[in-house]
Amino acid sequence: MSRLTRRSFLTAAGAVAASPALGATQQKSKATPGEPRSGVDIVIIGAGVAGIAAARRILAAGRKCMVLEASGTVGGRCITDTALFGVPYDRGARAFHTPEANPVARLALQNRFDIYPAPPGQRMRITRRYAREGEMEDMLSAMVRANAALSEASRKADVAAAQALPKDIGEWRSTIEFMMGPYFCGKDLAEVSAADLSRAAERDVQAYCRQGLGAVVVKLATDVPVRLSTPATRIAWGGRGVEVETAQGTIDARAAIVTASTNVLATGKLRFAPELPKRQLDAIERLKLGSYDHVTLELAGNPLGLRSDELVFERSSGPRTAALLANMSGSTLCTVDIGGKFGRDLAAKGAKDMVAFALDWLDNLYGAGLKRAAGRSHATNWNQEPWVLGAMSAAAPGGQFARRSLMESINNRIWFAGEAVHERLWGTVGGAWESGDRAAIAALRVIAPSAPEPKQQPKQPKR
Ligand SMILES: Cc1cc2nc3c(=O)[nH]c(=O)nc-3n(C[C@H](O)[C@H](O)[C@H](O)COP(=O)(O)OP(=O)(O)OC[C@H]3O[C@@H](n4cnc5c(N)ncnc54)[C@H](O)[C@@H]3O)c2cc1C
Repeated sequence: MSRLTRRSFLTAAGAVAASPALGATQQKSKATPGEPRSGVDIVIIGAGVAGIAAARRILAAGRKCMVLEASGTVGGRCITDTALFGVPYDRGARAFHTPEANPVARLALQNRFDIYPAPPGQRMRITRRYAREGEMEDMLSAMVRANAALSEASRKADVAAAQALPKDIGEWRSTIEFMMGPYFCGKDLAEVSAADLSRAAERDVQAYCRQGLGAVVVKLATDVPVRLSTPATRIAWGGRGVEVETAQGTIDARAAIVTASTNVLATGKLRFAPELPKRQLDAIERLKLGSYDHVTLELAGNPLGLRSDELVFERSSGPRTAALLANMSGSTLCTVDIGGKFGRDLAAKGAKDMVAFALDWLDNLYGAGLKRAAGRSHATNWNQEPWVLGAMSAAAPGGQFARRSLMESINNRIWFAGEAVHERLWGTVGGAWESGDRAAIAALRVIAPSAPEPKQQPKQPKR
């Protein structure tokens, strides 16, 4: 994440250069009693989607903020790399779910990004052929029953999603387990709360951005003051405001918004003084990130015979499976996505093994000529990205309530935001944006009671 060289990154770097060093900020400003010496109202930890959304809201309210970003780039889990393959390649998020209700998709359109709808439907491979109409109907009916069972079970108790699945989904069980588990949230269903899955908003309708979703986030950060390569190491919140420590100095402010992922928070890389209340510590533990990675292959000449952005699953017989997104944005790039325990173990073995799996998997489904067509390749490893440490949060069984706990402020000084802090859009770009916006509104209401009220968000369809 931190090694990218992107032209678009320069925009954010410009914003950074414009903001003085932390110590200098403190020395220069003439603070009146009770006001932060830094002149900053709210410090935001993290320049991912949630942090940028929060900053834009605070700036729009006429207040001052500063975003501290640990890595060398803006975007967090949204990062577009144009250097690797010579075309925009999203290493993290790439799809706008429910684009008509997605705030980031709306802003991307306003900023003249080329957003286009994904082709409708998905294809299902059964070894070397596609599923027939009757087989697809069986699969869809099994999926409907699985969703109904999740919803039914979660009304009684927050059990593991695996426990809630109906017994009679027969030969589609493993495929459905993959689609609802590793593919949807990066975890196997035994590790996921049925209630969390069943409350998740529908994500079937998708749109893509030809320039890359990460490029959109960089653009939206244009006027935001971001300090790159500045990890916050400690937040003291016992006094009138907050004091945020970094290796480059301490910055004081009235409040802080923390958007670091739950896995980063769980490592203790960012400490709190006093320690966070037990309720929030428990919530962080229950909302740990799943594992999800892209293994991307250049396949010249369309050997798979698929259209642009076609999504393909296989009727699998175990967890050793994946999802294919073919010819992304009309390019020769095809991504094999892996996740859950299988994906985590494979990623731990390294990029070579991941690429070998992807080629074997495609070879098994489409035939031997494929390996000859393969050119350059790349595999992400989000579990190893030091300031993210995973893919997306999915509540552990019994842990759905944790999202609400993380929404509560810590003594009206600290607010958490990020994908984990959204009850229905967790694990998404849209959810991260809304949570950042919401945290900023809540913080502004405390530090500046005349701040604007939140706008009503468009309703998201339920799963
Ligand atoms: C492979 C993959 C594919 C995905 N696909 C999609 C998709 O298609 N559609 C979709 O909607 N979502 C997708 N997601 C999920 C989406 O990327 C996330 O939900 C979203 O980007 C999270 O944004 P965030 O701001 O909450 O967190 P992050 O993006 O993690 O941002 C947090 C930021 O905080 C920084 N940070 C952490 N600790 C500190 C510290 N101590 N000091 C300073 N900075 C710190 C981090 O470096 C990071 O930049 C995908 C995720 C992955 C990994």
